[in-house]
Amino acid sequence: MVTGGALVGVLTKHWDTRVMTTRAVDGVLIVGGGYAGVHAARMVRRAGRCATIVDPTGRHDFVTRLASVAGGSAPVSDAATPLSSFADDVVVAEMTQVRDGEVDLADGTTLTADVVIVTAGAVPIAPAVVGIEHAAPLRTEDDAIALRRKIDSNDSVVIVGGGATGVQLAGAIAATDPTTTVTVIDGSDRLLAGMSAASGRDAMRILRERGVAIRLGSDVDEISRFGVTVDGETIAGLPVWAAGFEARADDFGLPVDDAGRVLVDRFLRVERWTNTFAAGDIALHTASNGDELPMSAQIAVQAGEVAGRNAVRVMRGDTLDRARLGHRGWVLDLGGNRGIAEVGPVALTAPFLDLFPPALHWGIDMKHLIETRGLAGIADRPGA
Ligand SMILES: Cc1cc2nc3c(=O)[nH]c(=O)nc-3n(C[C@H](O)[C@H](O)[C@H](O)COP(=O)(O)OP(=O)(O)OC[C@H]3O[C@@H](n4cnc5c(N)ncnc54)[C@H](O)[C@@H]3O)c2cc1C
Repeated sequence: MVTGGALVGVLTKHWDTRVMTTRAVDGVLIVGGGYAGVHAARMVRRAGRCATIVDPTGRHDFVTRLASVAGGSAPVSDAATPLSSFADDVVVAEMTQVRDGEVDLADGTTLTADVVIVTAGAVPIAPAVVGIEHAAPLRTEDDAIALRRKIDSNDSVVIVGGGATGVQLAGAIAATDPTTTVTVIDGSDRLLAGMSAASGRDAMRILRERGVAIRLGSDVDEISRFGVTVDGETIAGLPVWAAGFEARADDFGLPVDDAGRVLVDRFLRVERWTNTFAAGDIALHTASNGDELPMSAQIAVQAGEVAGRNAVRVMRGDTLDRARLGHRGWVLDLGGNRGIAEVGPVALTAPFLDLFPPALHWGIDMKHLIETRGLAGIADRPGA
């Protein structure tokens, strides 16, 4: 569906038996309406230029709240909001390929624009584990709502993955319904391997206090509809896959690294392209010292802002701004008014794990909404 008047000029050509349509989009075309996409749109509109977002869902998913929604500690209304108020125009469609300044959609349409920003995010990793298709994923509003229904009708849940997603989900389920048996399985020797050892220990303590069983150093042998087999033992329960995400940018014809992330220059422009940027989980982002930055909402927001500003600079013929991205910390909400927070290199410890991290998490979500949608965003505030 294409709305509004931002699409101008329609050229239709025939290709074999299919009708291929090319449309020129006014201003900046942003692929993906996640954290990077809506913050890129904010910068473009702030500069008085038109921002069109292409997304197959037509929604902005609050991915950082999905574990709470799926686990039952946050209402379903927290999961997503329509994209229409984040952009001048929304095209509900899926990108299949991108070339410099041009995007092919699944319906055969090609959109062209002065500048394109690709922010199509990441997808759950899918290693060759027998039966992985039986494990429920958690990345979209649809996933969260489907998972919540399944959890409600199961008395045991087995979560594969002890990173931020698995830990937040386990915490939310155990805080909401202590009668549900929850097991978290991870191949490494600790929880939250991407965070400090202290945060991993605190997460372990909070989850164990709530009765969550934790199996570390265990690799999954097999998954079925009824449970997960590790080290020859089957743990019965609803299987959930929370073992990480990967970018699949090579599917779209973009230059990528070994992990499938778009290679970008220091202005976040796709390497060796001129009118196309990439930001968020789909791209390889680095700090000024060259360290790889984690896939996170805060990095996606920063990168989206840089890409949006530089897109406008391309249109004006100005020199581009160098991206200066930095990891500021982590805030996880484990439900039940408890959580984990790291501010810079400092991990908060008890008693600051009570109330403070969930309140901070909520505050960050509110800032995100107000920045991208103005005060109208408050109406969509988590819990509204
Ligand atoms: C359960 C969970 C909890 C998390 N918690 C935290 C947290 O507490 N803090 C934190 O910093 N990070 C957290 N993260 C990570 C964070 O959510 C991501 O890093 C962030 O969403 C990345 O933003 P993005 O804009 O790159 O991608 P996304 O937010 O995933 O947005 C990508 C968008 O692209 C669209 N899209 C996909 N494919 C196409 C296509 N082919 N064509 C057009 N559009 C497409 C999607 O529909 C989506 O709207 C969490 C992740 C998960 C899964």
